[in-house]
Amino acid sequence: MKGKKKGMQAEDFDIEPLKKSKSDKVVPVKLTESSRFKFRCHKGVKCFTACCSNINIVLPPYDLLRLRKRLGMTTEDFINQYGEIEILAKTLLPVITLKMGTDEKKSCPFVTPDGCTVYEDRPSNCRYYPAGMATLRKKDAEGGKDEFYFMVKEDHCKGFEEDKDWTVAEWRKDQGADLYDDMNRGWMEILIKKKSFGEKEFPEIKNRMFFMVSTNTDYFREFVFGSSFLDTYDIPQERIEKVRTDDAELLKLGYEWLRSAMFAEETLKIKDGVADARKDRADAVLRKVYGGQNKEG
Ligand code: SF4
Ligand code: SF4
Repeated sequence: MKGKKKGMQAEDFDIEPLKKSKSDKVVPVKLTESSRFKFRCHKGVKCFTACCSNINIVLPPYDLLRLRKRLGMTTEDFINQYGEIEILAKTLLPVITLKMGTDEKKSCPFVTPDGCTVYEDRPSNCRYYPAGMATLRKKDAEGGKDEFYFMVKEDHCKGFEEDKDWTVAEWRKDQGADLYDDMNRGWMEILIKKKSFGEKEFPEIKNRMFFMVSTNTDYFREFVFGSSFLDTYDIPQERIEKVRTDDAELLKLGYEWLRSAMFAEETLKIKDGVADARKDRADAVLRKVYGGQNKEG
């Protein structure tokens, strides 16, 4: 169906597509936004909906948010009915993937003979195909990373035989991929950063924080406004008001908080006095444990 994603797997978040020979579906050519290709997916193609089964679709935060809002479901209900919790390879972080059906084909729960029933809110992966995006860490590139595109071609996909010409940028605009990328970019950067730590496991509390921001905006909002969060971090009042009602702004705050908590980055400013108070509390605990002496004492 139009915009249907194929071939990207959970491990494609590895962002090394040109190195991977794990799939010969990836054409090993780096593309730019102005690269051209022929493709069209519509109800008249012989393979219509053939690609909407037996696929591993990771749901980044904005994808999950859009889907569950469309269906009017809480995060918990969505995960129970449509999701699975997976530990993402090489990051060891928990993510939600879309649960395929139990039929022989393992169909996506949203596919029908007429196409995708959640089309306007379909996941990023379903929007990208056949033009995938990748990011490589590269010291000499701007911002230390190199973003580019690549083509995924699958034998059964007849869309490449259609006579419609696109640039990669035109395709992405048509599919609404840029908005999804903007909303999920901070999350992807956290995955990339975590991957750079190798197989090192983080404390469980950090995984829980990651999972809360990634999956449950309602709960994270309650946390921001119902805990000592706003007493701890110096956040402009105007931004606080936006976070109260704007899910996109809430997600961005969540990504900054995660970077601060998981990697000790200075993405959020701690309020004056809070750091001193924390140090005083830590010193008091040490005094209690070590009987009035510090660790070295
Ligand atoms: S296989 Fe290709 S042309 Fe066929 S429905 Fe999927 S994306 Fe469209
Ligand atoms: S969400 Fe829609 S486009 Fe994506 S696999 Fe399912 S039916 Fe296909």
